[in-house]
Amino acid sequence: MFDVANQPPPLEPYNLFASDTVLRAAVKREGAGWAERELDTLGAALGRSDTIAAGFAANRNLPVLKSFDRFGHRLDEIEFHPAWHEMLVIACEAGLHSSPWAKPQTGAHVARAAGTYMLGQIEAGVYCPLAMTYGAVPTLRHAPTVAAQWLLKIFARSYDPRFVPIGEKTGALIGMGLTENQGGSDLRTNTTRAEPAGDGFRLTGHKWFLSAPTCDAFLVLAQSPKGLSCFFMPRWTPEGTRNALRINRLKDKLGNKSNASSEVEFDGAYAELVGEEGRGIPIMIEMAGYTRLDCCVGSSSLMRQAVAQAVHHARHRTAFQKKLVDQPLMTNVLADLALECEAATVLSLWLARAYDEGDEAAVAIRRVVTPAGKFWICKRAPFVTFEAMEVLGGSGYIEESIMPRLYREAPVNSIWEGSGNVMCLDVLRAIGRTLNFADVLTRELDAGEARLKAFAQRLTERLSAPERNDEAQARALTRDLVLALQAALLIKHAPTAVAEAFCASRLAGEGAAVFGTLPRGCDTRAIVERAAPVA
Ligand SMILES: Cc1cc2nc3c(=O)[nH]c(=O)nc-3n(C[C@H](O)[C@H](O)[C@H](O)COP(=O)(O)OP(=O)(O)OC[C@H]3O[C@@H](n4cnc5c(N)ncnc54)[C@H](O)[C@@H]3O)c2cc1C
Repeated sequence: MFDVANQPPPLEPYNLFASDTVLRAAVKREGAGWAERELDTLGAALGRSDTIAAGFAANRNLPVLKSFDRFGHRLDEIEFHPAWHEMLVIACEAGLHSSPWAKPQTGAHVARAAGTYMLGQIEAGVYCPLAMTYGAVPTLRHAPTVAAQWLLKIFARSYDPRFVPIGEKTGALIGMGLTENQGGSDLRTNTTRAEPAGDGFRLTGHKWFLSAPTCDAFLVLAQSPKGLSCFFMPRWTPEGTRNALRINRLKDKLGNKSNASSEVEFDGAYAELVGEEGRGIPIMIEMAGYTRLDCCVGSSSLMRQAVAQAVHHARHRTAFQKKLVDQPLMTNVLADLALECEAATVLSLWLARAYDEGDEAAVAIRRVVTPAGKFWICKRAPFVTFEAMEVLGGSGYIEESIMPRLYREAPVNSIWEGSGNVMCLDVLRAIGRTLNFADVLTRELDAGEARLKAFAQRLTERLSAPERNDEAQARALTRDLVLALQAALLIKHAPTAVAEAFCASRLAGEGAAVFGTLPRGCDTRAIVERAAPVA
């Protein structure tokens, strides 16, 4: 028998809130200090060994489609491992699907974002139905009769997995069906038809992606006589029969394994109109603001877990007579990863605050920075999760560590809810339409730091030049917009070591094409210490 030596202890149990300096400071700063105690309780619950094990179990035991019962009747139900339900119980009891709507107050969107940021680190698949339900609420208010019947169930801090009509449920979750086989980004190509019938509509067609098909109802786009419109499609008809929503198959995905994503067909499915007929896209875009915010938070969350695991490992593992964390090149890698994570986290929570505030500046930030943040933060996550995996050496590549799961999960936020290019084109459009954005940006970037000043100057010139609408340059412009905002936030709120290294590497340097390239003079030790998951 050989001795097991020099292996780090597992990072559990631990409190995901108490051990996260950056998160705690951001929560307070962005107006959700009142939620600290609840977040601390959630952080402790998520970091318990049994919760961490449930996250693994939900991803190892994949959802199974049950199309028919044994007699041949259609079921269109999904069988999940109990761990999936356990995670949703924790999430719904914490209000992560609807708390800012159920109890509006200053900082409510920030508090919820902090909660989902922690949840996504332990199990990211459940984030999908939570994000869609959260985003759906303002849209549902365009259909007052639906809102009257459904909102209280959505607001309840209760997860009810039963497949029964809404009247019998203690809580409800909402999904969405936009993407069709022939075109997802260009929603005008949708072919699903909606025919008026009695007091509602009947929908016939398909959706190429419909995630979390066990949700109780879906917001669906379809062509009605007056154009592309938004519909509310419950899984049960008002008569109490199963609605004609057929789940054809489940997608075999790269990651996001615990969550079921399906292809569905509507065979004259009952649905109610939401908002004005023919105005489906603007109505769904309102929802997309919230789900895109969640993509920023979700990707930041994956990065945080990756960095927490990497720093934890390096603090305990010795190689060549030193702890890995003390090997200068490893310190540089970890510090660079921590910077990326902190920048993503502070931007996400700052953006969440804009959803709490209703003034003109907040609206401008929401419009422009939501797609911009979604582009850049979601694009960084695969790189961060990969590099963090390598910190663990061979063990990082093994499924028993969480690293492969984080790595496989990382690209999804970039692809869904508007892929990278679509987000950048959206940024161009939003800048063009948001007349006060230039002033808002100037105020936000005024942080009294020379490198940022020069960077901001060049950015402002590009934003006001006619070439700002050059689609081919939209990625570069969007990246620089986010980097400038991240730098400003870090200069204003983070320790000097963090702000200095961020400006030196992201504004003045070549950017983190590969992590571990922070220039000489950065206080890498201080940055890594700040990122260590210790309470
Ligand atoms: C795991 C998962 C779950 C999902 N769940 C849902 C769901 O629940 N409901 C739902 O409705 N959808 C869902 N989707 C679908 C997702 O939103 C779409 O895949 C996404 O919006 C892109 O659409 P598409 O696949 O049709 O790609 P396309 O629209 O064909 O786009 C392909 C590529 O072209 C780029 N592109 C498009 N237009 C332009 C342009 N003008 N200029 C430059 N580049 C362009 C895009 O950025 C993208 O990279 C899910 C997807 C995934 C992966």
